[in-house]
Amino acid sequence: ARPASNAAAAPYLEVIEVGKQFGTFVALHRVNLSVQPGEFVTFLGPSGCGKTTLLRGIAGLDPPTSGRIRQAGRDITFLPPAERDFGIVFQSYALFPNLSVTQNVAYGLRGPAWPKARARQRVAELLDIVGLSDQAAKYPAQLSGGQQQRVALARALANEPGLLLLDEPLSALDAIVRQHLRQEIRSLQQRLGVTTVMVTHDQEEAMGVSDRIVVMARGRIEQIGTPAEVYDAPASPFVAAFIGHSSRFEAVVDSPPGFVVARGHRLAATAARSLLYGARVTVFIRPEHVLLHRADAAPPGALTGRVTALEYLGAVCRVSVEAGGLPLLAAVAPQEIGALGAMPGGEIAAVLPADRLLVFPADE
Ligand code: ATP
Repeated sequence: ARPASNAAAAPYLEVIEVGKQFGTFVALHRVNLSVQPGEFVTFLGPSGCGKTTLLRGIAGLDPPTSGRIRQAGRDITFLPPAERDFGIVFQSYALFPNLSVTQNVAYGLRGPAWPKARARQRVAELLDIVGLSDQAAKYPAQLSGGQQQRVALARALANEPGLLLLDEPLSALDAIVRQHLRQEIRSLQQRLGVTTVMVTHDQEEAMGVSDRIVVMARGRIEQIGTPAEVYDAPASPFVAAFIGHSSRFEAVVDSPPGFVVARGHRLAATAARSLLYGARVTVFIRPEHVLLHRADAAPPGALTGRVTALEYLGAVCRVSVEAGGLPLLAAVAPQEIGALGAMPGGEIAAVLPADRLLVFPADE
């Protein structure tokens, strides 16, 4: 009989109720996470949220104080790093300065599994994969930052590890190299099918490469979801504020259900339907969802006010508006700015579509 092929795949990596304390300071509170085979998962969050601590726990560099970690069904919680099956790339390239590119990549290819000829072939293959075949004889100091990070990547992948760990691998590089290399890492990861966990504090980077993003804050997981899920349906005010540049304002739930009042303005808000009359809420709206109109052609129900700032960012203009007493940020195509008559200090009207308002019960 054939095994059931439609059974859900077993997770490759499981983090179960993992906690980490440094003295009395709690860096991780009972974190749970499953990563599927071949998945690219990113830990995203502000400085100090615990993402590096979690990655180090997964690598065995600093085991958790509670909980378990399983890789390929095996409990690895307290297994020393040397006995684990992973490759890792750090922010600072961490190459051996006195070894050539070839020697750096070959470093882990020792022992009976790697006879000389096979190791040499594997190094050539890896240098080809990361596009450094013509740099093989150079030393790290003779390479650019991006090239050094490619060497580190080749070295991390040399042993064909089951798990690739990336600790802010791109943050020391300049913007253009960073964007280029992150796409290379993603396509390489997909080609090899290696399960990958990356730490970053750069949301654009996380959105660009991940199958799923783990958004963290203060030692807790706030949300796990695809880039679209964390952007379109943030699970908490923290996620709504951290991902994307949103307008944010306080409001109170009004009646009938589906309305809120902010600064004396009544706004239809689909997401408020299930909330109790009188509840205090925090409302977010993404810049691309704020619809601007000429003040002299404001549709019924629009908020009117003034443009406070206009930033030209190339593909879009970011227009800061104070409308109906609310601070709003709108993204507008540059070619529409003229027709809107938008200029700093000028009058403008804004419509906030009911189904675009993200509504969260206020804290406390
Ligand atoms: P960053 O982006 O700044 O690296 P992070 O999210 O990776 O931040 P961690 O490095 O995981 O954060 O640190 C989480 C918290 O744990 C921080 O408040 C940090 O000060 C604390 N911490 C980390 N390592 C230690 C340690 N060895 N001893 C004491 N506290 C630590």
